[in-house]
Order: sequence, then C-alpha cells, then structure tokens
Amino acid sequence: MDFTPSKKAQAIARELARFIRKEIEPVEVDYHRELAALDNPWQVLPVIEKLKGQAREQKLWNLFLPDDELGQGLSNLDYAPMAELMGASLIAPEIFNCNAPDTGNMEVLYHYGSDEQKDQWLKPLLAGEIRSAFCMTEPDVASSDATNMEATAIVDGDEVVLNGRKWWSTGIGHPDCKVAIFMGLTDPDADRHYRHSMVLVPLDTPGVKVERMLNAMGFHDAPYGHGEVSFTDVRLPKSAIIAGPGKGFEIAQGRLGPGRIHHCMRLIGLSERALEMACKRSLEREAFGRPLAKLGGNAERIAAARIAIEQARLLVLKAAWSLDHRGITRSMNEVSQIKVAVPSMAQGVIDMAMQLHGGAGMSDDFPLAAAWTGARALRIADGPDEVHKALVARFELARYRERND
Ligand SMILES: Cc1cc2nc3c(=O)[nH]c(=O)nc-3n(C[C@H](O)[C@H](O)[C@H](O)COP(=O)(O)OP(=O)(O)OC[C@H]3O[C@@H](n4cnc5c(N)ncnc54)[C@H](O)[C@@H]3O)c2cc1C
Repeated sequence: MDFTPSKKAQAIARELARFIRKEIEPVEVDYHRELAALDNPWQVLPVIEKLKGQAREQKLWNLFLPDDELGQGLSNLDYAPMAELMGASLIAPEIFNCNAPDTGNMEVLYHYGSDEQKDQWLKPLLAGEIRSAFCMTEPDVASSDATNMEATAIVDGDEVVLNGRKWWSTGIGHPDCKVAIFMGLTDPDADRHYRHSMVLVPLDTPGVKVERMLNAMGFHDAPYGHGEVSFTDVRLPKSAIIAGPGKGFEIAQGRLGPGRIHHCMRLIGLSERALEMACKRSLEREAFGRPLAKLGGNAERIAAARIAIEQARLLVLKAAWSLDHRGITRSMNEVSQIKVAVPSMAQGVIDMAMQLHGGAGMSDDFPLAAAWTGARALRIADGPDEVHKALVARFELARYRERND
C-alpha cells in the first residue's frame, strides 16, 4: 500500500494550503464575530462569496469529485490530505465547494441522477450557486437503521406524493438551500432493502415546511443549521425520484463511503489545529512559576495526542486506498473502522486542548468548544458508533469462522 498522493494532487494541495494560510486564516476570527453579532445569522456574508470566487478562479474547486471535467479527477487518497487541510478551518470547506452535506448530495446526483436531474440540480450545486439538504432521519423512528424510515413517497400515476417529518436536516437553514433529497417508504411489502426511494424536492414546493431550527449542544451552526422539516401531501413529478422507486437504501449506502473519508480527514485537520493551540497555550502561559507544558502530565498528554492523530490518519488513508482500489462494497469494514476511531480520537484531543486553555477553552473566543461539539456529533451523525462497531465485529467473526471451519 502506497499512500503517496499523485504529483498533480501534491501540487493542488500546496496551492490549497497557501490559499488557506493567506486568504482564509486572516479573516476567520472576524467572520465568526460578525456572524455571531447578527440578529439574523442565516445569511452568507460577502467575504464568503468573494473567497469562493477566488477559489474557483484558481481551480481550487469541487476537489472532492473524482471527475476530470467537473472536478479535478482526484482519487480518495489524493483528496484525503486536502480534506484535512480544509477541516482545520470551520469555513474553508464551503469556500472550495467541498462542504457536507452538498458534497454527498452532488455525489448522489453524479452517480445516480438522470440527465434532467443533473441539469436542474447538479450544475448549480457544482457552480456553488445553490445549497442542498439530505432528509433521511426522522424524530419518530430509530434512524440509525436506514430501513426503518416511515415517511412515505408513494407513486400516484405520473406523480410521487411525500408525507412525513424529518429532522437534523443539515443545511436547511442556508439562504441558498433550494433542494432536499428526501428518503421515503414507497413499497412496504418489498424486501427491506428495496422499500424506500430518494426524491429530489425543491424547497418551495407546496407542503414543505421548515418547522424549526435545532441547536446542537447550543450551537446553531449558522448559516447551514439543522432543521426539523414537515412534508404534507407534497406532489412532484415521478421523474423527481432518483434512479427510480426502491433504490433509496442502495443510494444511502453508496453516498456514505467517500463522505466518511471526508468527514474523518476534516476531523483530523481539526485535531491538528487543537493540538497546535494546546502547544501554543501551554508554552506561553505560566502557573506555579512554570509554563503549563511543564506541569503535571501535560507534556505526556500532548505526546499522546500526537500519537493518536498519527494513528488515526494512517487508518483513514488505508480506508481511502481501499475505496480507490477495491470499491465501496469491499471497503465497508475499513470505512466503519475510521467512522468509530476518528471522531473519538478528535473528541479526546480537542478535550485535552480545552482543558489546557482553562476557562478560555469553554468560551467562544477560541474555536475549541465548537470543534469539540462537531467531533461529538460525528459519533452519532452518519451512523452511531455502535452501528459501525457491529459491522466491524460481523466481519471479524466471519473471518474467525472462515479460518477455523
Ligand atoms: C449534528 C448532526 C447532523 C446531522 N445531519 C443529518 C442530515 O443532514 N441528514 C439526516 O438525515 N440526518 C442527520 N443527522 C442524524 C443522524 O444521522 C442520526 O441522528 C443518526 O443516524 C442516529 O439516528 P437516531 O438519532 O434516530 O438514533 P437511534 O437510531 O434512535 O439510536 C440511538 C442510539 O441507540 C444505540 N444504537 C443504535 N443502533 C445500535 C446497535 N446496532 N447496537 C448498539 N446500539 C445501537 C446507539 O447508542 C445510538 O446512538 C444528524 C445528526 C446530528 C447530531
């Protein structure tokens, strides 16, 4: 296994790092202050559009998409270090049109969308002109089991009719969010994995209502946010179904492979940033006559964080390599392993950095509390830890049985 990115990817990564250092880092603190001071934070500040324009001009755009024309034709292994660079900043992913949930939704349209669906939704998403949401999770059913969804998508002649309630629909608060991918039950009598469909829903369709915005441990994550959305007799042409009725589960599975690599590498970037902040703070600040780094077990905690980040990165690169060389079906084990390992690692590293910052670590003056919440949320979002551990255990036990039969 060789984890060296291609020459092309190395060159893009250098440009990306330069752009983040020169253009994004200097404006980030002011950006968060300005947004927090607004009565209505559900808006895009001009600096974001300006930076998006610059990134697009410099071809630092849609880097996640493995297509030579629409993206940069990068493999998962090539893109992983770029996701890490972007993840260190809470605003960078959007500036390069590489933010969740839009990347996952664009991948769905790219792989499964009809020509008409691509024209209507993929093109403006790739251009960064609109945003999107993914509406799968429901308040009333255990949604870690994707076959549980009860909201309905019933085919009625040439139309499909949607009813139900979704929540934790990330991105629904964004002023440019124009479309949602809705997962609904189409045929309750079909095999469990062929009952559901994915439907593209323009958000201005009658019957779609954002009931409220949720906060995640006090954070609204504006301007994207997470919403609770009701769908009441929403009628759409049947052509709004992605890849035809009954393909919902298959699409949901396919959507999450590369997406989990992206999430994990972004979290590794965030962990690197937290560790850097911990080093800075513990060398600059003194207590009991010594720098914090020299007190108690703090130096050891810093060393443990470095080791944990390196281990996690190698595991993600292995999963990215596997996705590139063996495909999603043969990489489920690796992808589930990183989905468990990385958010927990990030949570621990960021927690250590918060502790070294004392009271400041809990404040909004440093991005640590928001970063910790993001890592904590990813132990639930995109499948809770336990579901992924169950899958890893299934592979392990099958391997044991195979060896010992
Ligand atoms: C910040 C954030 C953003 C999100 N964004 C989106 C989004 O954009 N779109 C979307 O559709 N959803 C989104 N989600 C929802 C997320 O994907 C779900 O919360 C998740 O899949 C779990 O579903 P649930 O909440 O219904 O938990 P449940 O299914 O009720 O599970 C609750 C708990 O039960 C336990 N459990 C479940 N299965 C097992 C098992 N096999 N073994 C042992 N224990 C188990 C786990 O501890 C689990 O946490 C987001 C969530 C968060 C927090």
